[in-house]
Amino acid sequence: MEAQIEELRLQLEKQCQLNKELQNQNQALEERLKQKEKELGELQSHLDELDVSSPHDNNESTQEVRQSRAAVLAIEPIPEDLDLTTKRVQKTASEKAQIMKAIGKNDFLSRLDDEQITMMVELLREVDRCPGDEVIKEGSEGDSMYIVAAGELKVIQAGRDLRTLTSGDVFGELAILYNCRRTASVKAITAVKLWCIERQTYRTIMTNKSKKKREQLMGFLKTAQTLKGLNDLQLSKIIDSMEEVRFQKNEVIVREGSEGNSFYIILQGEVLVTKKVNGQQKIIRKMGQGEHFGEQALIREILRTATCTAVGSVTCFSIDKEVFEETIPVETLQLYDDSKFMENPTTPERTSTSTSLRLKDLIPVLYQEGRYQGEPVTLGVGGFGRVELVTTLHHGKYYAMKKVSKKHIVSKRQEQHVLFEKRILLAIQCDFIVRLHAAFKDARYIYMIMEFCSGGEIWTKLKEFGRFDENTAVFIAACVVEAYAYLHKKGVMYRDLKPENLMLDAKGFVKLVDFGFAKELSRGVKTYSFCGTPEYMAPEIIQNQGHDFAADFWSLGILVFELLVGSPPFSSSEPQKIYAKILDGVMKFPPYMTEAARSLISKLCRPRPGQRLGNTKNGIKDVRHHRWFNSINWHKLRMGQVEAPTVKLIRKGPCYINFDRFPFDKTQADEEFSGWDRDF
Ligand code: ATP
Ligand code: MG
Repeated sequence: MEAQIEELRLQLEKQCQLNKELQNQNQALEERLKQKEKELGELQSHLDELDVSSPHDNNESTQEVRQSRAAVLAIEPIPEDLDLTTKRVQKTASEKAQIMKAIGKNDFLSRLDDEQITMMVELLREVDRCPGDEVIKEGSEGDSMYIVAAGELKVIQAGRDLRTLTSGDVFGELAILYNCRRTASVKAITAVKLWCIERQTYRTIMTNKSKKKREQLMGFLKTAQTLKGLNDLQLSKIIDSMEEVRFQKNEVIVREGSEGNSFYIILQGEVLVTKKVNGQQKIIRKMGQGEHFGEQALIREILRTATCTAVGSVTCFSIDKEVFEETIPVETLQLYDDSKFMENPTTPERTSTSTSLRLKDLIPVLYQEGRYQGEPVTLGVGGFGRVELVTTLHHGKYYAMKKVSKKHIVSKRQEQHVLFEKRILLAIQCDFIVRLHAAFKDARYIYMIMEFCSGGEIWTKLKEFGRFDENTAVFIAACVVEAYAYLHKKGVMYRDLKPENLMLDAKGFVKLVDFGFAKELSRGVKTYSFCGTPEYMAPEIIQNQGHDFAADFWSLGILVFELLVGSPPFSSSEPQKIYAKILDGVMKFPPYMTEAARSLISKLCRPRPGQRLGNTKNGIKDVRHHRWFNSINWHKLRMGQVEAPTVKLIRKGPCYINFDRFPFDKTQADEEFSGWDRDF
């Protein structure tokens, strides 16, 4: 009996063991199944990604015309003598408080400086609307911004109600910066009272104020003994480096006996100067607006000889010794160190081709396969025209032909820009800037026959690869530095740096294209037009403070960031959010970004233009000498004697393989005979 029981027990144990094993096997199988499912999911999403981003796919369903960032430009003239007093609208204290609160809540407006906000509060005028009235219309060009004082409105986009606006809400604020299409309609639900300001008013006032402020600061600086020897250009540079600082009532700005490091000009408020005499604080004097103190600190190591205290709240404009030293001595203010290479370039190709090139000899190159087989190759479609690939029967060389409708140019008031683009490109002979071989016009179009950059756009490559390795990014940025050195020396600002405007030639060298925003500017002069691409705009452009060559260095910093990361540091689908982020200036570097890259970007993207690398006393040399560029031999780069790491980005195949494909546009532009293009 006992033996039988023992036998059964053993059998039972065996069975249990078996069950356990089976269970384990099951679990393992389940786990493997899960793993496989995960892998499948990953592969699928990878496939999805490839589907959208591959520009060379011939599949009918894939999206072939890529979306890139659009540039903006406000070219409205700014009247010098607009009478501000007629524009001011009296408001009660509670009205002002309501407006201030609304501004404080708004992403973009809250970043404007106090003076700008005060101005805006004064200039807003009242607008009343009845229920059902459309205040702004989707698709129309906007010219005003509104703050809701009372009542309710609704925002409608493509027939869909998006949200309701009530008192204290702001809408249409982008329109105060530049001419842009409204992305939604706004309709009054009830009777509404609105505060409104037009762009013309806003821009005029901001611009004139910035100009006046500079003039005023110039006057203040000229009274400083230490700065006597400096000319206007140098003083202007100092202003670009100075920063606003605020002090509260009774705050000590400089203390007697402490180490002096900064120079101050009083913009607002009063400062009390005291000195210790026989152990007692003795009042020396009171200083007011326009007076300055601490100038000695700029030129030597000193201990403060007096104490300066804010009487009420005080605003000063200040610069410290290190920054001052970066900005001035001025023998080096001349910003370039280019070798003779830049002075006397020889371009045999240009004279030989430009004289022999005729419009009627240019024939379109056709797609040899794929969806558009047999149609002319379009290399790019920009805001202002198309660029087609052409060749000649005689020597079979390729050219990129930019073709822009004259009517379109006139309707967008771009005549001057187009004339300038042609004039400047013809005058430019730099290996880092696309060559213009000839320019033509007929009744419908203007044509620019450019060197063909067969490697394609850096933008396309960046989308394809996600981001570039450091070596590649360094090389691309170095080519831009050389292009800048050439342009700035000629007194030309570029103003539209972005990966979309950088092209690769067959050897992988990078060239700047698209000179639609370029502008000639004398040193020490500022320009006030609102232009560029939102993500790349310097803060002084957004603030209408006047900008110059320094804005190009800001955008170089943004470019370096985008090349290394794959997207720019300040971005959003809404432009006003981009502007708000730029004004905040907080940049987040991803962990993989090297310290050298962070250092370069931070120095190029300093908020004060005078402190930006490239715009300090050694000019562009300081950029070249930054350690991020250690691997670059600048001379060899200029001579074209380096291996471009970018060659690995270039695809081999038909001549248009590195470009997105575009359907041919068969429509013809209307004729235009106003004669603006006489000099084209
Ligand atoms: P936008 O002002 O909107 O940037 P645009 O109409 O001024 O555009 P460009 O930027 O000059 O035009 O050119 C549009 C596109 O055509 C470029 O992004 C590029 O893809 C292509 N392209 C321009 N110039 C050349 C060239 N020299 N060689 C090859 N492709 C070119
Ligand atoms: Mg372009």
